[in-house]
Amino acid sequence: MDHKLRVLVRLDVDPSSAVLEVTGCLTADSWGTLAPLIRKTTALVGGQRITVDLTSAQHIEGSALSSLRDSAAGRDFELRIQSPEFLPECPSLAPSGRGGMQP
Ligand SMILES: [Zn+2]
Repeated sequence: MDHKLRVLVRLDVDPSSAVLEVTGCLTADSWGTLAPLIRKTTALVGGQRITVDLTSAQHIEGSALSSLRDSAAGRDFELRIQSPEFLPECPSLAPSGRGGMQP
């Protein structure tokens, strides 16, 4: 299955913080792409406060979210995670809706 990670980096007016907005699929695999991106962004803003916004993500794997939470611990900067209450399933796995049962 093709999971695409899309990340938008929003730099704040406050130069010490940045927001990483994830709009694609955050999976165990794509976590490997996101982790270095968090490090790069931290270096870019001088590493004060990074927010990872998952509320617009199309797909979140629970294991990737725990990796993200684990990585937030023991850092010398503040990593905030905004995640939706229910983790969205991948749209590419959803039934197409064609050929289904019609009433
Ligand atoms: Zn996906």
